[in-house]
Amino acid sequence: MADAVSSSHGTTFLIVAVVLLVTVGVVGFLPVLDCPLDPYIEYGSVPCPRCSARGRVTLFNRWREGGRPLLLWEGKKLDWIEGHGFQQTTFRLALDHANVFGGLPFTNDKRIAAAKALLATGYYESVCVVASSRITSNTAGVTITVVERPRAGK
Ligand SMILES: [Zn+2]
Repeated sequence: MADAVSSSHGTTFLIVAVVLLVTVGVVGFLPVLDCPLDPYIEYGSVPCPRCSARGRVTLFNRWREGGRPLLLWEGKKLDWIEGHGFQQTTFRLALDHANVFGGLPFTNDKRIAAAKALLATGYYESVCVVASSRITSNTAGVTITVVERPRAGK
C-alpha cells in the first residue's frame, strides 16, 4: 500500500516536471521581452545583433546574454566629434542643431536626442550617431554620419 502511494506520487511528480519543462521550453523560446540592446542600436550604423532588428528577444536569449549591455562610452566626457556625409549642409550647422553634446556625462539619451534633432531639421534622410571609447580612456568620442536629402533644382 505504501509502495503504491509513493509510486503514484512519483508519477505525478514526473508529469508535473515534464509539463514544467515543456512550458519553460516553449515560453523560453518565444520572443516575449523587449530587446535590451535596441535603445543602443537605434540611430547606429548596424542592425541589432541581439534580436536581428525584430525588437524582441526570448527569455533564453536574455538569460544567456544578460540585460543591458556594458558600454565603454556611457557616462564619460566627450572629447571629439567627427562628421561624415556633409556636402550641402555643414558639420558646424549640424552640431548647432544637435545642440545636446554640451554637458556631462554623455549618455545614450543624449545620443538619441542628437540624432532626433538632426532628423528634425529635415535636411537629412538618415542620421547615425555612434559613440565610442576605450576601456583605458576616460573620455568618449562621437561619429555622426548623415545622408542628405536631395534638394530640388540640383
Ligand atoms: Zn535588438
